[in-house]
Amino acid sequence: MAKHYDLIAIGAGSGGLSVANKAARHGARTAVIESGRLGGTCVNRGCVPKKIMWYGASIAHMLEDANGYGFDVSVNNFSWSKLVEQRERYISNINEWYIGYLESENVDLIRGHARFVDANTLEIGGERVTADNIIIAPGGQPVVPEVPGAELGITSDGFFELETQPKKVAVVGAGYIAVELAGMLNALGSNVTQVIRKAHFLREFDPIVYETLDKAMRESGVSLVNNTQIASLESAGDSITIHTDNGAALEGFDTVIWAIGREPLSAGLSLEAAGVDVDSRGYIPTNEWQETNVDGILAIGDVTGRAQLTPVAIAAGRRLADRLYGGMSERKLDYENIATVVFSHPPIGTVGLTEAQARAQFGEGVKVYSTEFTAMYNAFTEHAQPTAMKMVVVGEDEKIVGCHLIGPGVDEMLQGFAVAVRMGARKRDFDDTVAIHPTSAEELVTMV
Ligand code: FAD
Ligand code: NDP
Repeated sequence: MAKHYDLIAIGAGSGGLSVANKAARHGARTAVIESGRLGGTCVNRGCVPKKIMWYGASIAHMLEDANGYGFDVSVNNFSWSKLVEQRERYISNINEWYIGYLESENVDLIRGHARFVDANTLEIGGERVTADNIIIAPGGQPVVPEVPGAELGITSDGFFELETQPKKVAVVGAGYIAVELAGMLNALGSNVTQVIRKAHFLREFDPIVYETLDKAMRESGVSLVNNTQIASLESAGDSITIHTDNGAALEGFDTVIWAIGREPLSAGLSLEAAGVDVDSRGYIPTNEWQETNVDGILAIGDVTGRAQLTPVAIAAGRRLADRLYGGMSERKLDYENIATVVFSHPPIGTVGLTEAQARAQFGEGVKVYSTEFTAMYNAFTEHAQPTAMKMVVVGEDEKIVGCHLIGPGVDEMLQGFAVAVRMGARKRDFDDTVAIHPTSAEELVTMV
């Protein structure tokens, strides 16, 4: 007979692990099913390896800066393979740690690919399990475009498999992953071209951040090719040529990285067997309670297509477990005012509405405070990273509805301000807060 659980999560990534673990803590019998490595995208092919590469790239910048502070520094070598080896060891340790963690938290781990047999039954390699609640959390995968020669390129998954550093690399795309990879590869010494199909990257962000980053990346040596679509890729020996829609050829790349978005991993789940709806792009629509159209089947994380970020998947999972098994019947995730950081060079931090979104929503009542400066750290450095900040406020009492930052340190700066924005802070509250000096953060409480 099939083993029965209160709750099964499909996918041991950010969302699945969180919901199964929290439900088990509330006393539910839970299991998590995983076809790959424990930890999902974030741990294995996302946030964690990315942040390690970002730290490496930030150290490269700092080594350049050291001379300005009187250090006689010369860098003899950078070993890509050593950094990759350390990174992979770190990740393997996290994978291992999860095994013991799940055991200690009384969550069963089922290895293999899950697919639905019916609304309460899953099959994994011929074995069946049933549950009262099945949580779909399979995440997503990178998109590869349908152009001739597309297979000559790699995706972010392939980037994390690179054993040697690309010498001349093209990053195609305009979102988080494209600017993050382009920035870190450039800092680590690769020759980087970023190909952007529209007028600029990060179009959904406030102009203050994408305009500042555009300038900073160009000054750092990244070649930004805007308004250009890829028509095809062609290889000649070890070299890849990019043919563009305007008839140009960009030549001599050893690596091309597609960073043009991600798609949900819903197709292999046999969702039709359970009657679960998907939208035209394969995302699973959910209501405010993370419920799908089928009773007892819920979805969290990237597969829902909403704010595809690790802390969002975790928060949705934990709140769902609290609601289902913790006696907190009203507990759910509020998707408003989710802060996010782009680990570009320099980093971007943003929460709330852009100026344009605020004007569309509140019209004349919107006011903007902004500042641009070079941080004191850069006073003696040859290469200065810019800082820019914008605060968007509405109404007589100047309630803060958006905060958009770019510059060294804003990645760590934003979290606290995100709490304030979420609590409904007004500009006056910021003004009344005594500054911490000398910092970049103090500019946010001294804007006029
Ligand atoms: P995942 O973490 O993708 O987990 C899903 C798991 O389900 C996977 O392990 C998969 O193998 C498994 N699975 C899929 N189908 C099945 C099946 N049928 N049966 C069994 N198992 C299955 N977010 C941030 O907040 N900060 C960052 O800095 C950040 N950086 C990123 C960098 C990159 C390069 C990428 C690609 C993503 C990044 N993200 C970041 C996004 C973040 O990784 C995702 O939002 C998050 O991992 C989503 O969690 P999830 O639980 O929905 O899915
Ligand atoms: P994004 O959705 O962020 O960006 C991809 C962009 O590429 C699109 O917005 C589009 O921009 C452009 N694009 C789409 N199709 C094509 C095409 N055919 N040719 C050229 N360009 C194209 O996707 P990412 O893959 O960068 O990241 C996926 C998600 O993962 C992010 O949205 C984010 O939620 C998460 N993530 C979070 C990170 C973080 O928190 N730091 C880091 C990395 C990922 P346009 O329309 O302007 O051309």
